Amino acid sequence: MPKMLTVENLSISFRTSEGVITPVHDVTFGVEAGRTLGLVGESGSGKSISTKALMQLLPGNASLSGETRMTYTDKAGKEIALGRLKTGSKELRRIRGGEIGMIFQEPMASFSPDYTIGNQMMEAIMLHRGLKKRAAREYAIEMLNKVGISNASARVDQYPHELSGGMRQRAMIALTLSAGPALLIADEPTTALDVTIQAQVLDLMRDLQRDLGMGMIFITHDLGVIAQIADDVAVMYLGTIVERGPARDVIRNPQHPYTQGLLDAIPSVEHLHDRLKPVPGDIPSPTARPTGCPFHTRCAQAIAGTCDVTAPTEVSTIPGRAVRCWLHSDKDRNAA
Ligand code: SF4
Repeated sequence: MPKMLTVENLSISFRTSEGVITPVHDVTFGVEAGRTLGLVGESGSGKSISTKALMQLLPGNASLSGETRMTYTDKAGKEIALGRLKTGSKELRRIRGGEIGMIFQEPMASFSPDYTIGNQMMEAIMLHRGLKKRAAREYAIEMLNKVGISNASARVDQYPHELSGGMRQRAMIALTLSAGPALLIADEPTTALDVTIQAQVLDLMRDLQRDLGMGMIFITHDLGVIAQIADDVAVMYLGTIVERGPARDVIRNPQHPYTQGLLDAIPSVEHLHDRLKPVPGDIPSPTARPTGCPFHTRCAQAIAGTCDVTAPTEVSTIPGRAVRCWLHSDKDRNAA
C-alpha cells in the first residue's frame, strides 16, 4: 500500500531567550491509508510538536531544518509539500480539516463555546463537502448518530458545555470526521476520559477508521493504548524515534531499553499485586540534551565510554523493525 504521508528528516528548532533549542531531531515516519501509526513517548518527547508541524500550527519562533521533507498525497492523488504552504491560503484551509483532521485531548480546543454543536458541524460540512444548509444539518445528525450520541436530532442544537465530557469527546470526533478527512491526527484523545469511556471511544475510533478507510496518527504516552489501536508504532524519546515497527511485534519483543521501560510501567492483570516499575528519572529538558544517546542518563544498560559519547544511528534489526541503540549496533559501535 503506498504511503499517503511521508515525513523525512523532520527537525524543528525554536528561538528562545536561552538560545536555539531543537526538540525534534531528524524524525522519519510514514502513514498508509487504512492504517494507524501510534506515536508513543512521555510528555516532552516531541510527538505533538511533530504533528503540529504537519498542520503548520507551530508558533512563530519555530523553524524547520532545510532537510525536512513532508509529503502528503491528497484524495485526488496530488502531492503536497506540507510545512511550506502559504499562511491563510485556500490550499492550507483545504488541507486542514478537509484532507487532514485533528482531534485533541480537550474537546473545547476544537469547539467554540458560543455556537451550537450543529452550527459548528454544519459550517465544516458546507465548507469541505459543499452541501447546502439543510443537507448539512442532516449529515451532522447522521455523524452524531454514528459516534453513538443518543437523541442526536435534539443534541445537535445544544452548546458544547451542555454535553458530558465523554459525549463532548464523541461530538468532537463527529465534528472532525464530518469534514471527511483522509488522514486523522488524534492527540491523546482519550487521556482525560475515565477508563470505561476511554475504551468505548477507542473502539469507536478504530471502527470509524476502518469503515472510512482513513489513515491515522494516534499520539499517546500509553503503550497499552497503542496495543489496542495501532498497526505500527514509533517510540519517541527526547525528539528522536528510538524504535519502530509493527505494533504487535514491538510490544511482544521490545528491543530498545526505553520501550522495555514503558512496557514495564503498564499494569497487567496477571501481576496486579506487583509494584509497577516506572522508567527511572525524568526526561531531560531539550535545553539540556545529553551528549551521545539521549537516553543514557536513565538507561540501566548504558555502555560507559560509548553511550554517553556517541549517538547511535538507526539500524534495521529484522525486516520491518528498526532501533537506535548501541546494544543492536555492535559493528557500528566498533567503528565509532
Ligand atoms: Fe541505553 Fe546505550 Fe542503548 Fe542508549 S544506546 S538505550 S544508553 S544501551
